[in-house]
Amino acid sequence: MTAIRTPRNQATPTGPDVEPAQRAPVSIEGIRALLSGLDRRQRLAVTHGEGPLLVIAGPGTGKTEVITRRVAWLIASRRARPSQILALTFTERTADEMQARVDLLVPYGQADTAIHTFHAFGDWLLREHGHAIGRPMDPRVIGRAEAMVLLREQIFELGLQRYRPLGDPTRFAGALVDLFARAKEEGLGPDDLAAYAAELEAGARAVAPAMDEQAAQEVVAGLLDEAASQAELACAYRGYQQILAEHSLVDHGDQVAEAVRLLEERPEVRLALRQRFRFIVVDEAQDANPQQLALVRLMAGEMGNVTFVGDDDQAIYAFRGAVGQALAGLGDAYPTLRDVVLRRNYRSRKPILEAARQLIRHNDPDRLEVQRGVDKTLTAVRRARRPASVRHHVYATASEEADAVAIEIEHLLRKGRHPGSVAVLVRTNADAEPVLASLDVRAIPRRFSGASGLFSYREVRDVLSLLRVIASPASSEDLYAVLTAEPYGLGGEGLSAICDLASRRRRSLWSVVTELLEQPGLLRLTPDTRARLQRCVDQLRASFDGAHERSAPAVLYEHLRESGWLSSLVTRAESGDDGPLRRVARLFEVVKAQSDLLGDPRLPLLVPTLQALIDAGQDPAVPETEERADAVSVLTVHQAKGLEFATVFVIGMAEGRFPLQARRDALTLPAALTGRRASDDPETQRAEERRLFYVAVTRARDELILSHAIRSARGGRQRRPSGFLAEALGRPVDASLAVEEESCLAAPIEQRTAPSTLAASHDRGSGLTLSFTQIDDYLSCPRKYYLRHLMRVPVPAHHALVFGNAMHQAVAVANAALMRGTGLDEAAVQVTLESHWSSEGFLSAEHESARFAAGQAALSRFVERAFARPGDRILAVEQPFSVRLGDARVRGRYDAVRDVEGATIITDYKSGDVRDPARARERARDALQLQIYALAWEAEHGSRPDAVELHFLEGDMVGRVTPTERQLERASQKVATATAGIRAADFEATPGFPACDWCPYRRICPAAP
Ligand code: SF4
Repeated sequence: MTAIRTPRNQATPTGPDVEPAQRAPVSIEGIRALLSGLDRRQRLAVTHGEGPLLVIAGPGTGKTEVITRRVAWLIASRRARPSQILALTFTERTADEMQARVDLLVPYGQADTAIHTFHAFGDWLLREHGHAIGRPMDPRVIGRAEAMVLLREQIFELGLQRYRPLGDPTRFAGALVDLFARAKEEGLGPDDLAAYAAELEAGARAVAPAMDEQAAQEVVAGLLDEAASQAELACAYRGYQQILAEHSLVDHGDQVAEAVRLLEERPEVRLALRQRFRFIVVDEAQDANPQQLALVRLMAGEMGNVTFVGDDDQAIYAFRGAVGQALAGLGDAYPTLRDVVLRRNYRSRKPILEAARQLIRHNDPDRLEVQRGVDKTLTAVRRARRPASVRHHVYATASEEADAVAIEIEHLLRKGRHPGSVAVLVRTNADAEPVLASLDVRAIPRRFSGASGLFSYREVRDVLSLLRVIASPASSEDLYAVLTAEPYGLGGEGLSAICDLASRRRRSLWSVVTELLEQPGLLRLTPDTRARLQRCVDQLRASFDGAHERSAPAVLYEHLRESGWLSSLVTRAESGDDGPLRRVARLFEVVKAQSDLLGDPRLPLLVPTLQALIDAGQDPAVPETEERADAVSVLTVHQAKGLEFATVFVIGMAEGRFPLQARRDALTLPAALTGRRASDDPETQRAEERRLFYVAVTRARDELILSHAIRSARGGRQRRPSGFLAEALGRPVDASLAVEEESCLAAPIEQRTAPSTLAASHDRGSGLTLSFTQIDDYLSCPRKYYLRHLMRVPVPAHHALVFGNAMHQAVAVANAALMRGTGLDEAAVQVTLESHWSSEGFLSAEHESARFAAGQAALSRFVERAFARPGDRILAVEQPFSVRLGDARVRGRYDAVRDVEGATIITDYKSGDVRDPARARERARDALQLQIYALAWEAEHGSRPDAVELHFLEGDMVGRVTPTERQLERASQKVATATAGIRAADFEATPGFPACDWCPYRRICPAAP
C-alpha cells in the first residue's frame, strides 16, 4: 500500500492572491461618458452605491445596457476591481453577449469580471472547493438524458414498486429525473421527502380516532397511500444520489444545490468568496429558482452588494424550476433592498405597449406592481406620425392562416422591407410547420431557430440505422435505410427485386443480400448494383468485427470515413449546404456522450441505450441554419425572448394552443414542501402563459398582427379564440370569419428599415471567444478550424489524446492535493490515471499496456519530484482565465501556477518524452500556448509571470523560459490574425506540410494533398 505523505509545500485554499495592477485615478470624463445617453432611472440604477438593489426592467427599457454599464461604472468609480465583480445569468449566450458589451466599455485588460451562468459558477465552486465537503474534484456533469439512461439501467436498485410497474418498469424514469431535479432546485434532499412521508403517516394515524369509522377509514387510507408514495420516492431519490456519487457524476441540479451546501457548511469558503466578489449582479432574476437565490444570498449576505435585474411579467420558465415570484420575495431576504423601476420603453410604439399592459394586468394581484406598490407603466419613447398597428385576423383553417401570413410577408418584402425585420412567433415548434411550408412555397428566405429534433432529419436517421445494423444485421428496415443512404445509393429495380426476394422467402434482407453476392445467378442485377452491394456488405462486415472490440464512436467514425459518407458531407458543406454535416456531427456528440456514460462503450451495448433515449422522447435540439439577418425569423416565444422585430406575427391564438393546454406532470413535489401552489395548478399555468404572450407582444417595434384559425389544418373540432386576445385588445373578440381584419386599430404602416439597423437589432452580440486550441488550429489551417470548431466534425480516437488526457487529470489531482496541503497519495494519483484511461485508438493491447505502464512510471516520478522541491508552492490548479486580447476574448486554463522561491511560474504539462534540456527549452520558447498564457496573466494581474514552462512528464524534463517583449508581440499578432480571419469567415484550406500530416481530417478533406 502506498503511504500518504505530507507535502512540505502549503497554499491558501482559495488560490492565488495576486495584487492587481495599479489603477489610474478616477476619470470624471470617463464616468461622464459611461453615463451618457442614459435616462434618469437608468442612471440611478447604474450609479447605485452599496447595498442590495432591485432594478425592475420591463421589455425594451435597456436592461442589458444598465447591467453592463453598472459593471463598468463600479470599475471606473474604483468601487471594485474587475475581478471583484460577479455577474450571473442563465445562458451561455447571454453571458457571452454581456462579456462582449463589458469589453467595449472597460479599458483594455481590465475586463476580467467573472460573468457566468449559474450552473457554470456552481461547477467552478465545486471544482475549486468541493473537496471541503468531500466531493470529487473532477466530477462529470450529466444532463437529463444521461440521468434517464442511468436511472433506467439501475431501475431495480432504487427500491421502487408502484413507480416501477413490471409491465413497463422504466415508465416513470423521466418523471423521476424531473422530480429529483425540481427537488434540488427547491433545496430538498431525500431526507426532506422521507420526513414529509413520515409526517403524513403520523398525521393519518392521529386523525383516525377523531372521525367516524367510515370516514376515518377513507381519510386514513388516502393519507397512508400518499405517505407510502412519498416514502417510495424519497427512497428512490436517495438511491439516485448514491448512483451519481458512485460514478463521480453530478447533474445540473447538483451543480447549484451542492454549491449551496458548500457555502452553508464551510464558513471559511463563504468568507473567502465574499471577500473576493464584492459586487454581484444577477440578470433575469425573475427566472431564478430557490436554490439559485439561496446561492446569491450566501455569497452576498443580507446587507450585500447585489443588484437584481429582472421583470416579474417576463417570468416564463416555471417549467424549469423558476419560482416566478422570485422578485416579490427579495424584500424579505434583503430588508434594505432599494427599487428602481425603468419605465421608458425604447422599443415599441404606444398601441403595442397599451395592448401589453391591458393583457398583463389580468395577472393582478400576483404581480410586483401590486405587491411592492410600484408603477410599472411603460412610456413609449419612439414617436411616429402614423399610429402603430395592433391587428387581429381570423381564418378558417391553420393552413389558410399560414398562407395569409406568408402572403402578407411577401407583400411587405416587395415594398422593400428587410426580411430580418419580420418575425412569426409560435407557441410550440409544431405550430411552425404550416407557416414554414407556406414561406417555402413563396421562396421567402426564412430561418427557423426553433429546435427541430435532431432525430427527425433524414441523414441522422440513416446514421442511426447504420448503428442498428452494425448491432443487429437482421434488422431489415435499417439495412434498407443504409443501402439507400448517401454512400451506397442503391434503389430502383435492383433493390426492389432484392426486397421482393427477401419477402417471398421470409428471410432478412441481410441474409438475402449476402447470399446474392455468393451466388450471382440467384438474381439478375446490374454490375453497378452488385458493386454497391458488395461495397456495403464489405464495409458492414468490417464494422461488425470492430463492434465487439472497439468503442461505438470509434466504429461509427471509421465506417463513416471508410465509406466516403463523411467526405461527401464535407463536400456538400463546402458547396454551402452545411446542415447535414452539422447534424451528423451533433449525432456523433450524442453517441460519444452516451458511450462515455456506459461502463462498456461497445456498440451492441450502446444501441439499446440510444434507442431507449429516443423512445423516451429525447430529441436533441439542433438549429436548422445559422442565424441569418437576411431572413424572416420563425421562432417559438421562448426563443424570441431578448429579440425585437419591426413587425411581429403571433399565430395560433386559440384556446388550448395559446394558452397551451399543458399536460399534468406525472410526479410533482407536494405544495406543503415548496410552500407554493403546484406548478400544474391551472391558474398558475394560465398566468405563466399570459406572461409568455406578454413577451410575444412586446417583441414588436412597429406592428403586431395576431391571428387564429377556427380549425386545424386537417379540419377537426372548432377552436375558440384565445382569451388573451380579448384581454390584450380590451374588448371581446368575434371569432366569426365575417369579421376578418375587423380588429385593426390602425392602418398598417409602410416603412423601410435600414438593413444595418435590422441586423443590429437581430444581433445578440458580436463577442468572439477563442481558446488556444482554436487559435492554433486556425493558424495551422483555417479549414481545419472550420471542420473542427464550426462544423464540429468528430476527431477520430487517438491513443495520444487518451494518454495525454489521463495524465493531465492525474497530475491535476496530485497538484490539488499539494496545494491544499492535505497529503499527496500516490495511489490516488494512479487511480485517476486508470479511471480516465480508455482503450480507444491504441494500435494493439501490447501498445496500450506499454503506454499505461509508461504513464504509471511518469506519475511516480512526478510524485517523487514533488517532494524534492521544498521551496515550491502551488498557487492554483486548473485555474480558468478569460481575458481580452485584441478583438477577441481568449479563454483557457492554466494547468498550474507555482511560486518558486518568490517567482510566479505558469506550468503546462505535456505527456511527451522530451529528455534533452536544450530541446525542452526550445519547445517552451516556441510555444504560442505559453506566450498566450503570459499575455493572459498580464491582462489579469497587470504584470507578467516571471516564467512559463513546459513540463514533459514522460521525459521528466522541464523547459522554462521568460518570454521576451518581441515574442509576446508576435504572439499578439498571431491572435489578431486568427481573430480577423475567423471574423471574416475566411476558412480557405492551406494544405501543406506538416499541418496536413498531423491533421485528423486528412482522410476526408478534399484539399488534403
Ligand atoms: S487536411 Fe490539410 S488542408 Fe485539409 S483541413 Fe487538414 S490541414 Fe487543412
